[in-house]
Amino acid sequence: MNALAAHRSRIEMPDLSPVLARSVTVLGSTGSIGVSTLDVIEHARTCYGADALPVEALTAQSNLSGLVDQARRIKPKIAVIGDEKLYPDLKAALSGSGIDVAAGRRAVIEAAARPSDVVMVAIMGAAALEPALAAVKRGATVALANKECVVAAGAVFQRALAGTNAAVIPVDSEHNAIFQVFRAADLDEVERVTLTASGGPFREWTLEHMRVATPAQAVAHPNWSMGAKISVDSATLMNKGLELIEAHFLFALPVEKLAVVVHPQSIVHCLVSYMDGSTLAHLSAPDMRTPIAHALAWPRRISSPSRKLDLPAVAQLTFEAPDFERFRCLAVALDCLRRGGLAPTILNAANEVAVDAFLNGRIGFLDIPRVVETTLDESSGANTAAESLDGVLAADARARELAGNVCRRMVM
Ligand code: NAD
Ligand code: MG
Repeated sequence: MNALAAHRSRIEMPDLSPVLARSVTVLGSTGSIGVSTLDVIEHARTCYGADALPVEALTAQSNLSGLVDQARRIKPKIAVIGDEKLYPDLKAALSGSGIDVAAGRRAVIEAAARPSDVVMVAIMGAAALEPALAAVKRGATVALANKECVVAAGAVFQRALAGTNAAVIPVDSEHNAIFQVFRAADLDEVERVTLTASGGPFREWTLEHMRVATPAQAVAHPNWSMGAKISVDSATLMNKGLELIEAHFLFALPVEKLAVVVHPQSIVHCLVSYMDGSTLAHLSAPDMRTPIAHALAWPRRISSPSRKLDLPAVAQLTFEAPDFERFRCLAVALDCLRRGGLAPTILNAANEVAVDAFLNGRIGFLDIPRVVETTLDESSGANTAAESLDGVLAADARARELAGNVCRRMVM
């Protein structure tokens, strides 16, 4: 058997029609990842036929007109708005369309529990946790863009997965890249998994300059177009810290095997280094529609509308060590990963509160790590094991309250 045939025999896959017949639910369809997901679905319908990737449910929190517009185009069975006050408007806007409507937090969780093959979890923040668990519990394939739910409740999430047929396909670009080049069976042979970080918009800024950075400057990411919260996380490098914790839980990787390298071009998304000296990397243009298409079609591949790699145009791929002094959040997140227990839960909750306060002009950019560290210091129980969902939700709520108080003290 030649090498190609041997490889094929190992990865024998079904033809494309079962992949295109998969029904999809998109949680957080009006956000950056949600919109890109619908773009991939519409592209598939253009390439493969109008029946491709039928949509079961779309959900959004408060963007009523965005959701209505998407529902008319995509034709889900149900459209759900998180903000209950908007229910009458949603109902009126979609009356006569044949699309069911619902509203409220419970309805978002119920949307995840409806019988679709794939659930794209593109809600922002730890609010994605319960909807994601509802999809896991019924054995869906979970295309997981949201990282906060894994950081906040990694152990709970893992335990929920263990008892079902559910599969998690990571969508976060670095984790999707790791998923593509790393085989769990090889864990003993893997020496290091390296996540790349663009360095964000303040990669070359001094601390003095960063102190007066505005929300508009922080969300102006050089390579990626993303929601406001993750853009700020990319500017503080908390995003990479959250992603180290995410990688730890998704791939059972110990902290000693995880590393970060700054790579300003965002072309290489991960590097997996084996004990024989080989390093396998994943490259693509920085466009989330690539990992989204991969997750929807896995283990096959479908055409996607994403930008394709043009190496001569990129010209240079450069790498540098992260600066843990200027980007404190990365050091704090690594520390929480080492501590384990509820420390990542508290880290994530405090960061969500701090980023919101920064985006609303209440605290400065360098106050974000200060709020997170102070919240961790003042939290009792950071070293407690994160055993149950209720325990995680309670720790998350306590940390949010504490972080809110820390923010208020800071502006006094
Ligand atoms: P976004 O802010 O653009 O969109 C968030 C979506 O979630 C919106 O549809 C919003 O209506 C919905 N939503 C917000 N709060 C909600 C709540 N409490 N309950 C229910 N729905 C709610 O965010 P995004 O940039 O698309 O990111 C979504 C997730 O994907 C985040 O966890 C982020 O870290 C992750 N992610 C994003 C990117 C990216 O390129 N944008 C890349 C990797 C990972
Ligand atoms: Mg990422």
